[in-house]
Amino acid sequence: MIPKVRRAKTRKMVTLEVLANTAPSPAFRTVTLGGPDLDAFEPAGDDQAVRLFFPRAGQDGLRMPTLDHEGWMAEVLMMPKSRRPWVRNYTIRRSRPGEIDIEFALHDGDAPAADWARRARPGDPAGVFDLGVSYLPPSGVSWQLLAADESALPAALAILENAAADLVAEVFLEVPSKSDVREVEAPSGVNVHWLPRDSGRLPGTLALETIRSAPLPDGPSYTWVAGEAKLATGVRRHLVRDRGRPRSDIAFLGYWRHGRASPG
Ligand SMILES: Cc1cc2nc3c(=O)[nH]c(=O)nc-3n(C[C@H](O)[C@H](O)[C@H](O)COP(=O)(O)OP(=O)(O)OC[C@H]3O[C@@H](n4cnc5c(N)ncnc54)[C@H](O)[C@@H]3O)c2cc1C
Repeated sequence: MIPKVRRAKTRKMVTLEVLANTAPSPAFRTVTLGGPDLDAFEPAGDDQAVRLFFPRAGQDGLRMPTLDHEGWMAEVLMMPKSRRPWVRNYTIRRSRPGEIDIEFALHDGDAPAADWARRARPGDPAGVFDLGVSYLPPSGVSWQLLAADESALPAALAILENAAADLVAEVFLEVPSKSDVREVEAPSGVNVHWLPRDSGRLPGTLALETIRSAPLPDGPSYTWVAGEAKLATGVRRHLVRDRGRPRSDIAFLGYWRHGRASPG
């Protein structure tokens, strides 16, 4: 059985500040965070996720919870809304000494995190709390299937940049448009299939449709799929029902739901 998540042994609420805000492509923003408290955060690579805390519009600072365990959630809910921060899940795209990058897919709608990423400026406060790594391929598989929409592109790219030189993988990356396609650092055994939507279709549907009809290698495999919930569950269902893959070899992660705001 594949363990579902690997977390740091000790986890701390870490308060940071924005160092930079850049645009790797039209539909994305990279926000770089740093500060003295970053020493208390253990970068783990791959799809390491965090709870990201940031102030609501109109608040004059960030009020972080103090509890370094899951009790933080009750603590946040008990704060009056005038002081309560927004909380969303994000991936550590990259880490360097003294800095971490988080890459936001910009999307429409009433979306606090995407809006915050558009306007974050150096000096703005933000906090993180480690959620661990879910990409946990077992030994003994001969190839991997990785699939992501734009919300999971940062995680997929981090996985590929950290990958062992002998990784063999088919990778499906769905992005909003052709201008969001980029160079990928990956081992030579990795085939990256960029899937620009360039249309009004729902995120995740192009990747799911493509994977359903894709020729895939035989042999024991590990799958990591993340993004809109129907992409994650759809790929898993297809692999199990139509391709006879064992459920235990598939990590499927619903990062967001179409039409529903993330709680927090
Ligand atoms: C473990 C984990 C890691 C994640 N890592 C990243 C990451 O590195 N980068 C990243 O961009 N996202 C990432 N996400 C997804 C992110 O948490 C959600 O997209 C989140 O809902 C964004 O919050 P928001 O405040 O912008 O929108 P919300 O307030 O949550 O939602 C507002 C509206 O926007 C829609 N919506 C939410 N996300 C998207 C989207 N991506 N595209 C189109 N519509 C959307 C919702 O359906 C809703 O209708 C991750 C999620 C998880 C669980």
